[in-house]
Amino acid sequence: MTAQLIDGIALSKQLRTEVAVRALALKAKGITPGLAVVLVGDNPASQVYVRNKVKACQDGGLHSVLEKYDAEMTESELLARVQALNNDPAIHGILVQLPLPAHIDAQKVTEAISPAKDVDGFHIASAGALMTGMPGFWPCTPYGCMKMLESIGYELRGKHAVVIGRSNIVGKPMALMLLHKDATVTICHSRTQNLKTLTLQADVIVAAVGKRDVLTADMVKPGAVVLDVGMNRNDEGKLCGDVDFAGVKEVAGFITPVPGGVGPMTITMLLVNTLEAAERANS
Ligand code: NAP
Repeated sequence: MTAQLIDGIALSKQLRTEVAVRALALKAKGITPGLAVVLVGDNPASQVYVRNKVKACQDGGLHSVLEKYDAEMTESELLARVQALNNDPAIHGILVQLPLPAHIDAQKVTEAISPAKDVDGFHIASAGALMTGMPGFWPCTPYGCMKMLESIGYELRGKHAVVIGRSNIVGKPMALMLLHKDATVTICHSRTQNLKTLTLQADVIVAAVGKRDVLTADMVKPGAVVLDVGMNRNDEGKLCGDVDFAGVKEVAGFITPVPGGVGPMTITMLLVNTLEAAERANS
């Protein structure tokens, strides 16, 4: 069996077109959805991420502001900037790119963002809203994974989903989103014993670890849906996921590639959240 690809680039294109249409409808009312991206320091990976986010906004007809500060910026200066953005009516979403320099308390900064503008979905109010099923912003990466499942018409009710990884930004919110769709969810992590026994029972597997080949073909039930969140480098320095793609695609029913899978969906869901924030602010 060869799995069907879930193409994150094609799905992103479709969703970004929908965002652009909704942005136009807001613009007709004199509102341009706006995202502020704040970068502190010169982490090369972060610079690429923020550039991509700002460009995606511009392409989608959203207003975006990139604020860059040097690594010496103090925590109180950053908190003051966040406060100013909270009060800026032209800004509907605020994203402070992580990681922050060590002298800044990232959690404190995250909690300083108004939950109404928390388009990354990292604020504890957003986490609480997800947990309780209340309206709020969902973290972009697991939200993108849910959209990928939706795109193939996958019915999660009663299915067994195994999430490998329990971070606050991917694994845990992913598990909650699957649970909200009535899947039976198992969360695995570095202390999980007999990972293979669990993944072999899964109808859906989400790998969010950050290590190559965490999931190999012998660990996958034939026909299972495999979503690969991981971003790693192989021996040739090329981008790869957590899943042994070549092997697993022969067993799985659906699989996401890396690159071109979950990655583009993450930025797309940031645009969706920003648009949603602007719509809510003006409803
Ligand atoms: P993280 O905070 O480092 O969490 C990794 C998780 O994997 C932890 O819960 C850890 O368990 C678990 N783990 C480690 N080794 C394991 C093993 N051998 N077996 C089972 N579980 C294991 O990472 P993250 O932020 O969630 O990101 C995960 C990956 O996704 C990374 O590669 C990251 O770059 C990528 N990512 C991609 C996107 C995207 O847009 N595509 C977005 C975000 C993240 P413990 O909790 O026990 O330590």
